[in-house]
Amino acid sequence: MDVRTVAVIGAGTMGAGIAQVCAQTGWQTNLFDAYPEGLERGMNTINEFWDNGIARGKTTPEQKEEWSANIHTFSDMRNAVKDVDLVIEAVPEIMEIKARIFHVLSIETKEDCILATNTSSLSISNIAQASDRPDKVIGMHFFNPVPIMKLLEIVRHDSCSEATIAAAQSIGSAMGKETILVNDVPGFATSRLGVVLGNEAIRMLADGVASASDIDTAMRLGYRHPMGPLELSDLVGLDVRRDILNSLAEAFDDDSYQPHQLLNSLVEEGSLGKKSGRGIYDWTNGNKSEREDLPL
Ligand code: NAD
Repeated sequence: MDVRTVAVIGAGTMGAGIAQVCAQTGWQTNLFDAYPEGLERGMNTINEFWDNGIARGKTTPEQKEEWSANIHTFSDMRNAVKDVDLVIEAVPEIMEIKARIFHVLSIETKEDCILATNTSSLSISNIAQASDRPDKVIGMHFFNPVPIMKLLEIVRHDSCSEATIAAAQSIGSAMGKETILVNDVPGFATSRLGVVLGNEAIRMLADGVASASDIDTAMRLGYRHPMGPLELSDLVGLDVRRDILNSLAEAFDDDSYQPHQLLNSLVEEGSLGKKSGRGIYDWTNGNKSEREDLPL
């Protein structure tokens, strides 16, 4: 598929990264956010990334100039999407918002436009049903930080056409990603395994098997994981992980996915991980240290 123009909906953590990579791929990239401050934050993130690259000798000022010229910001979604070949949606993980956007997208985009969602846990099939062109809707699940993480999880659903799957795979390759193809089951391939590992590590911590840092070291050195499951849970956000576990428990009607009591207690006391300064670890000043006061 010959993509020349892309619209990215939502300029947050993921949308900014996706727009950046699209611009670097050479595509005309329309970035839309419902809030002016969201758009500004997203552009700042992209420019900071490029400026750091220049400071470290990885990017040239000429490249930054060329890539910057490929990004266009929009405060009106209809204008942002009307002539593009591909839309990638990255708004908050709330079904009502995504459904409304996909309904509008299927009316306002070209008939052959691919409509992708970056959702990490919602049903792609339900999102597709909100549009008038479900065969063109597909999950394209990127990972944070998008310019660095190689994986792109492509999620197909029952009404998705083979042509749309093939297009998403070639779009992913053009963006420099390695793609995997997954069916539309709750948690896909990544989130499901990730949260189960994290939940079990929390259970082990509560059971007194070892300290948090020793459990993390076990997986880093014993299994060559780049980061231990407890540290990773703190980086992703304990509230995010708890919500995914709850939604898996409900979707599969299986209590083995229920978040461990320690995870619930941490979220209830406001220990959400690195973003709140405390989680399984203490993150005061951004440095990780073991906590003596876990709500066990
Ligand atoms: P975020 O909160 O950082 O960004 C969301 C952006 O969407 C914000 O800038 C907000 O202003 C904007 N927004 C809100 N309502 C909007 C609307 N109606 N139209 C347009 N813009 C709107 O969120 P995020 O972390 O970038 O997550 C976005 C999506 O990506 C979610 O579906 C999330 O599950 C998924 N995801 C997140 C990660 C991650 O690590 N953060 C990884 C993979 C997938």
